[in-house]
Amino acid sequence: MAQLRENRFTVEHETDCTDASVVIVNTCGFIEAAKKESIDAILRFGEAKKRGLVDKLIVTGCLSERYKAELAADIPEVDAFFGTKDLPALLKELGADFRRELVGERLLATPRHYAYLKISEGCDRPCSFCAIPRIRGRHVSRSIPELAAEAARLAAGGVRELVLIAQDSTYYGLDLYGKRRLADLLKALSDLPGIDWIRVHYAFPAGFPRDVLDVMRARANICKYLDLPVQHVSDRILASMRRGTTRAKTEALIAAIRDRVPGVALRTTLIAGYPGETRAEHEEMVDWVSRMRFERLGIFSYSHEENTRAYRLPDDVPAREKKRRCEAVMAVQRGISLSLNQAKVGKTLKVLIDAKEGGTFIGRTEHDSPEVDNEVLVDARRSSLRIGGFADIKVTAAEEYDLIGVPA
Ligand code: SF4
Repeated sequence: MAQLRENRFTVEHETDCTDASVVIVNTCGFIEAAKKESIDAILRFGEAKKRGLVDKLIVTGCLSERYKAELAADIPEVDAFFGTKDLPALLKELGADFRRELVGERLLATPRHYAYLKISEGCDRPCSFCAIPRIRGRHVSRSIPELAAEAARLAAGGVRELVLIAQDSTYYGLDLYGKRRLADLLKALSDLPGIDWIRVHYAFPAGFPRDVLDVMRARANICKYLDLPVQHVSDRILASMRRGTTRAKTEALIAAIRDRVPGVALRTTLIAGYPGETRAEHEEMVDWVSRMRFERLGIFSYSHEENTRAYRLPDDVPAREKKRRCEAVMAVQRGISLSLNQAKVGKTLKVLIDAKEGGTFIGRTEHDSPEVDNEVLVDARRSSLRIGGFADIKVTAAEEYDLIGVPA
């Protein structure tokens, strides 16, 4: 988006604008639901182009990288398809120049007070169910100085919260420095003025660098929050998934995190209906979730992806049963989430106000990442809060996932 802006384009992200001359659909394509969402978006703009509302339709991103030829044959309304590493060619298609000096310059697609910071690209792990390494390539870490410079620019533009993302943030640094350096990166970002919250997503459990925990405990602007996708708990399935860990090792890691970072909120994600998952293995997951009491949790139905190792196994859990297993896990998690939330009633929490919708301010605590986690709701008719600012909110009521509060 920054490259286009410097080439004198007016660029808008997810806009309501109805007279765009060019539409670029940036696709996702790693599981069935993401592919469907991407294809629906392409078809919607294909229709707009047929009706003369759009001059040019471009498709880029992971789905396009993975299925360029098939998409080109099936959706002729699209003018050009590009893969994940084709930005210079995409710009050329639009008569714009790719300028290397602009790499790292950004136009935010988020509200201006928070930003995602991609610390590395690609993945070297062998997870059996995952197509991402084939789409995004080998793991490539960005250097600490480069990331600190980008974060400083974001802070100067008003960003207060950095959300660190990667396919595998645990691996950060190994390719570039010969050792894991997530802790050093966190220290460098934490030293920057103006950044109030830094949070870490996608920390692969195997090989997680424990020095990160000391930095997280010691630094006030590193959120006591960790997203640790465990995917499953049965040792047999973890081995088939090639996750390089076991139930016992995962439990030891979770205990160490909770011990070394008091008050930490752990988020995890799970997969239901992996090939061959028995009812007993599903029940093991349900029971484990009820014991581990994750503060935040999401679960997805297994998606049978070609060119993955798991594709050789029969996708033998019916779709309806996968959905039922997801619901069974979430039923347990809802109870955990409600009781954790109820324990917060009467407490005052530091809340970042993200938005105002109708008569309600919507904010988050340091234990909540944007889009995926809980919210704190404040009646906007009785209080005046600044969007993008922090406020002390006293919790007055708790729902399963959200908290209700008033300014303290
Ligand atoms: S670590 Fe994540 S991105 Fe990498 S192969 Fe495993 S699931 Fe896929």
